[in-house]
Amino acid sequence: MIDFHVHLDNSTLEKVLALASERGVKFGIVEHAGTKENQYPALLSTDDELATYVKGLEGKPVYKGIQAEWTDWMSCFSVKGLAQLDYVLTDAMTFPGKDGQRVKLWEKDSEARVDMSDAQKWMDRFVDWHLEILSKEPIDILANVSWLPEPLARDYDALWTPERVKKVTDAAVEHHVALEISSSYKLPKLSFLKIAKAAGATFSFGSNGRYPNMGKLDYSIQMARALELNKEDMFTPAPEGQKAVQRRRL
Ligand SMILES: [Zn+2]
Repeated sequence: MIDFHVHLDNSTLEKVLALASERGVKFGIVEHAGTKENQYPALLSTDDELATYVKGLEGKPVYKGIQAEWTDWMSCFSVKGLAQLDYVLTDAMTFPGKDGQRVKLWEKDSEARVDMSDAQKWMDRFVDWHLEILSKEPIDILANVSWLPEPLARDYDALWTPERVKKVTDAAVEHHVALEISSSYKLPKLSFLKIAKAAGATFSFGSNGRYPNMGKLDYSIQMARALELNKEDMFTPAPEGQKAVQRRRL
């Protein structure tokens, strides 16, 4: 059992490792990474910062990952630096606003900064945004899959049409990107996941957990059972030379 989406934000590795053994779950730690324009409690922006972070996790029973931010994070690091990681995870929740600037869709000001007045039109843009991320960024896991901003979330079933789901899941399969089953958001819903499985997708479990909520994977496990997922359906970090950052040109 692996939770590939664990943030150390408000805790320490020691405390988080104690939880891992308590819950019988192995953790993949992800620190936010990208240019300084991204606002997070901790952010890796250079090869040196990345190396220090990796060194801090060395020899510990965890996978080493980053949560990549925006579309320009690759410019901060060398391939060699990134290849010290076991994987790179990102999501589609930061979206270009009316002014082209990055907007965190979960924050209050997003409704003013992003035109979501026509939900169908916005969904098409959101699907295109997924395709852009999946096709251009050397990532291993797409996290928080199918999450929708507050004004649209209640129409999940109507907005995530099978056609839209298929576009996203086909792109994930084409680029060998695993789809996270998120226990914090309880997403994607089973209908979405069934299309993804039929398309041949691979999956990872994630809590997006801050202390003490990492390793709580109830929803992920429930969905895996419903889909009858096997070991070969699950993401495992790629061997040296085949990581996304090495496979795909930066
Ligand atoms: Zn996260």
